[in-house]
Amino acid sequence: QSSTFPNGSKRKTLIILGSGWGSITLLKSLDTTLYNVIVVSPRNHFLFTPLLPSTPVGTVEMKSIIEPVRSVARRCPGEVHYYEAEASDIDPVNKKITVLPVSSPNSTAIELDYDYLVVGVGAQSNTFGIPGVYENASFLKEISDAQEIRQKIMASIENAISLPQGSEERKRLLSYVVVGGGPTGVEFAAELKDYIDEDLNKWVPGISKEITVTLVEALPNILNMFDKSLVQYAEELFRKEKVELQLKSMVQKVDSTKVTMKCDNNEIKELPYGLLVWATGNGQRQVTKDLMAKVDKQDSRRGLLINEKLQLLGHEDSIFAIGDCTFHPGLVPTAEVAHQEGEYLADQFKHLYKLDQVKYEISTTKDSSKLTSLNNKLTKLENSADDFKFVHRGALAYLGREKAIADLSFGNSKYTSSGSFTFLFWRFAYLSMCISFRNRYLIFMDWVKMNILGRNSSV
Ligand code: FAD
Ligand code: NAD
Repeated sequence: QSSTFPNGSKRKTLIILGSGWGSITLLKSLDTTLYNVIVVSPRNHFLFTPLLPSTPVGTVEMKSIIEPVRSVARRCPGEVHYYEAEASDIDPVNKKITVLPVSSPNSTAIELDYDYLVVGVGAQSNTFGIPGVYENASFLKEISDAQEIRQKIMASIENAISLPQGSEERKRLLSYVVVGGGPTGVEFAAELKDYIDEDLNKWVPGISKEITVTLVEALPNILNMFDKSLVQYAEELFRKEKVELQLKSMVQKVDSTKVTMKCDNNEIKELPYGLLVWATGNGQRQVTKDLMAKVDKQDSRRGLLINEKLQLLGHEDSIFAIGDCTFHPGLVPTAEVAHQEGEYLADQFKHLYKLDQVKYEISTTKDSSKLTSLNNKLTKLENSADDFKFVHRGALAYLGREKAIADLSFGNSKYTSSGSFTFLFWRFAYLSMCISFRNRYLIFMDWVKMNILGRNSSV
């Protein structure tokens, strides 16, 4: 792609950080012929997070929910450069970023200049600084986390088998603890219980009955963002299916064999575990925190502050931010929000291109009557850019035993549903959200395979 357009104007460089919901949606919807597009992300694939909780137990295969960045880039009409690298520094004043390639440990940092930058680096799992979490718990954010959890499940079973029944150590190894009763923790606990009851039950019948699943939540109930009736449904189902709910319990410390929590009435309780999955929400990444520290107007610790056009406060002319790395009242950190923001920005970049073209014509025109009409055109264009408007369609969560809940919005009306029919709707909705035919096909086939042959019980 040439660096100038036929009229002599410069093709601007747009750098997109990240390969998640926000950035990949932007890339897919963008007219990539209008910019030099560079994508920088340490993760060389897009990850379909809604089905990540299904992968550690093999309901869906890990490969089925990823899509390589290069395969998305290849389908773009213009040229797209991809760096498998992490942005380590953003210099908003000189419009430069520093990136560290991830493929080789000895690689040196590279500097890239941009005209426009989109920050879509997402968030990382939050530990709230609780001691021992990083060292001992598994998270559920990336495919590598799913792999790690799967290995830990297998190891705990193999190690427990050789111990005498009723021994404390065997009991500990077979105690699976999930901390965080948000949708990630709930969906993973549900998948885990399905796996134990439907598959391990056949493979290791003796031991499967000894495995316990406990969900620890600091608040009085799980799934706080859902309608009260759905929360009640979820809690009743978990109790019926014997997922232990440890509510009003704040984990304060973790070591290699137990979590220590402060429960109701300030009672301190210890819970031994053989597998610990930590799902207590999002914290900001270092690159995001560093950027916030450099910009005066960025005075929130919850994420990058943006305006209604998704421009970074303090650098509105050149930096945009989307998804979980941002904070804006009314926008929650979900795939739904990041996806809509990506689509909106793709439209904005078309608009910006038109603006830049008019500005270029103004800078090169000497004819005063043409200048007046160009200035009018510029003003019109500047005033015609739409603000981002999030349309909330609803939230879904899988609860196990082929049951799900849905909290849906249609305009001003709300609709809630739960049970087996909602589970079918949940499956249909997630298939329709897939970003490629390949993902959709593989996920569908995994579900068919699971129904016929059961889940894969090996690492
Ligand atoms: P992400 O999708 O996290 O992508 C961030 C990208 O930035 C990644 O590619 C990462 O590698 C890259 N990156 C990180 N650091 C750097 C760096 N320094 N430089 C460059 N790139 C970097 N939401 C829903 O709406 N529905 C659901 O059902 C749902 N289920 C979920 C299940 C799980 C298990 C999880 C963890 C989340 C779920 N979410 C769901 C939330 C949803 O996944 C996030 O809100 C969404 O991924 C945010 O998109 P994003 O683009 O901001 O970040
Ligand atoms: P979350 O922030 O939604 O929930 C975390 C939970 O952990 C909270 O209920 C909190 O009270 C609890 N917690 C925090 N510290 C604790 C402690 N020390 N001890 C015990 N409990 C503690 O986090 P999440 O579930 O990872 O979700 C993150 C984002 O992703 C949310 O915006 C969510 O809506 C979205 N998401 C959506 C879906 C879905 O729609 N199905 C699925 C997964 C994630």
